[in-house]
Amino acid sequence: MSEGTTGRYEPHSVEASRQAAWSERDAFRTPPLNEDQTHLYIKPSAPFTSGNVHIGHVRSYSIGDAYARYRRARGEDVLFAFGFDAFGLPAELGAIAGGEPPSVWVDRCATHMKGQLLRLGFSFDWERSFLSSDAVMYRWSQWLFLTLYEAGLVYRGSGTVDWCDHCQTTLASIQVEAGGTCWRCHNPVRLVELPQWYFRVSAYVEENDRRLAEREAGGAWDKVALDSQQEVLGRVDGVELDLRAPDGSTVTAFTPHAEALAAASFVVLSPRHPDAEAWAAEPAVAEQLEQLRSGGWERSARDAESIPLLDTGRTLEGPAGTFLPVLISPVVDARFGPTIALGVPSQDRTDEVLAARLGLPGAEEGDASTAPAGRPAVRYKASDWVISRQRSWGTPIPIVYCESCGTVPVGREQLPVLLPLDITPTGTGNPLAELEEFVRTECPACGGPARRETDTLDCHFDALWLWLPACVPPESREEPIEQILALADLRHWLPSERLVAGSDSGNFVFDQRTVTKALRDIGPLAFLTDGEPFAGCLFHEMVIRDGRKMSKHLGNVVDPDELLERYGADTVRLAVLYAARPQRSLNWSDSAILRCHRFLNQVWDYEHGKLALAGSASESQVPADTSEHLRLKLAQWCEAAVERTTADMESLEMHSAVRNVMRLFDRIKDFEKRVLARELSLSPANIEALLAALSVLVQMLGPFAPHVAEELWLALGHEEGGAQTPWPGVSFKVPA
Ligand SMILES: [Zn+2]
Ligand SMILES: [Zn+2]
Repeated sequence: MSEGTTGRYEPHSVEASRQAAWSERDAFRTPPLNEDQTHLYIKPSAPFTSGNVHIGHVRSYSIGDAYARYRRARGEDVLFAFGFDAFGLPAELGAIAGGEPPSVWVDRCATHMKGQLLRLGFSFDWERSFLSSDAVMYRWSQWLFLTLYEAGLVYRGSGTVDWCDHCQTTLASIQVEAGGTCWRCHNPVRLVELPQWYFRVSAYVEENDRRLAEREAGGAWDKVALDSQQEVLGRVDGVELDLRAPDGSTVTAFTPHAEALAAASFVVLSPRHPDAEAWAAEPAVAEQLEQLRSGGWERSARDAESIPLLDTGRTLEGPAGTFLPVLISPVVDARFGPTIALGVPSQDRTDEVLAARLGLPGAEEGDASTAPAGRPAVRYKASDWVISRQRSWGTPIPIVYCESCGTVPVGREQLPVLLPLDITPTGTGNPLAELEEFVRTECPACGGPARRETDTLDCHFDALWLWLPACVPPESREEPIEQILALADLRHWLPSERLVAGSDSGNFVFDQRTVTKALRDIGPLAFLTDGEPFAGCLFHEMVIRDGRKMSKHLGNVVDPDELLERYGADTVRLAVLYAARPQRSLNWSDSAILRCHRFLNQVWDYEHGKLALAGSASESQVPADTSEHLRLKLAQWCEAAVERTTADMESLEMHSAVRNVMRLFDRIKDFEKRVLARELSLSPANIEALLAALSVLVQMLGPFAPHVAEELWLALGHEEGGAQTPWPGVSFKVPA
């Protein structure tokens, strides 16, 4: 028993003493592989090294940590570790603001954030944590790039990409806000044509769709997570049919309007369709296509009224036997992906607008009897994304350009291609491209002079593998990637039993599901036969205040450090869990904090009061025992509370679990009141029953408010050890 167990509840001393004890006994080290033991890998999200842990992080990790602690409390082996997502624009802009190299900025932020997370008492295995910007880690990106390149899943393409003039960089589609503005600087984004590297997501879109039903049937993916995957897929069901050109060749066109094929009045190609060039062969048309691709239009011109629309001057024989004009427009991409679509103005508002712009007849029905039936077909909006960026704070792409050999991949044995760390970016251009000692190199194929690729990988590319290294024991971290992927550890821990992440993680998860299938087919992850990295997935909503997103601008930011200072970690953790279901936005108010702080204080005082009583009670004072039935009742209340709370923990309904624990405390006090109504004082048997019930209560409090729960557990005379106070009804000895 430590000093803090007498007197009033002092969260800071309790938390400091428990954290020291956990560190002393290495409580959260990942257990050695033991196939006979239930084991699971719980994957928290990878935070950006953005400077500070915010209240949204606190919510996310409080949910994941409560789940991890609950599973350990059941005697199960848990892997719970994460890495910092340290590359990318946020870190680079932070460094620009501070006028220092991003590596310095990132290291300082990560150290500070780790301190905050430690102060909160999250049970991460810190030995396994990492920064994605460490060379030993970003070689994962380079290895993956080469592996996917060889498999044809990464390719050099040229096409329209979102470009921010202000940030001088290309953006991933999810970095473009709904209004066509940059996620970072909120300036309008343009579409421009640049040579880029792409990740061929399209190869696995159909399987990702098909596997989703299995995810749903498994029951461990919540609805928000499942919906996010549907949204990324953007599946459209319809039909496709072959249309004949005057020269006898055919093209396949798609429409969601299977019943109205005869009413089609035009055909429209995506500018990204492989046949677009052939259809725009006419010099004047080719020039327009070129303009359209090279940024002749604002991204905001996305609605049917203003989106670029290019008439090729050519025709195709439509389903009703008449010849239809062939157009090219990016309107197709946003709706059906890079395909060819039939325009059916009578069925479709967008098509109606396009037809009007072309002076084509509007809502004509057509003669349905002459139209052929289409083949059932599906299109997806999800498509290949750009993985390269023209910025310096990212993983160097392991490619060199040689005058004689062309594009040459760097050999795996030469990885990592090191990123120079002494670059201090200014916010414009790409300083990496200006660094001759980086750019000039030897061709790996012929030994002649060559130049390095100076684009770096988008940090979204790092996210493809960020879920893997937690499975790697620290002593194997430096081994070649092939060797790491062959470790028994990966077969042991994967797939992750549960991902706990914010509801905005849909794109990351989709791409992680894609790359898992690619690595399954290529070989290294063949043991994941369904190509799914996560057996379960919980997407939680964010923390808002006054019904609005928190921002410095609005002055409504909740500072976790202030709350910690005032109430301690246990209260803050308990409050974010208590305040709302994970799937609901948590609208911040201080009432949850105050309620939880009062609760912990009351439990503390109550338990210590009863312990003092137990010490002073003597047999001679024992009144006649008239309360045996009440003790029985108390035991039943405890049993029911354990049953309900266990069910809540299994389904990560932390909000309900916390309430069940609070209700048990009310019942314990109610028991005492009823006993005292019958008997003058608490008999030793009744004190014993109360302390037993309090034992159950603090056991269930353990996953939410782990410091105070363990302190109270020890005060009740239990032993210290293992990772976690055991769950009620579970007895196990974990090697200390
Ligand atoms: Zn921008
Ligand atoms: Zn060469």
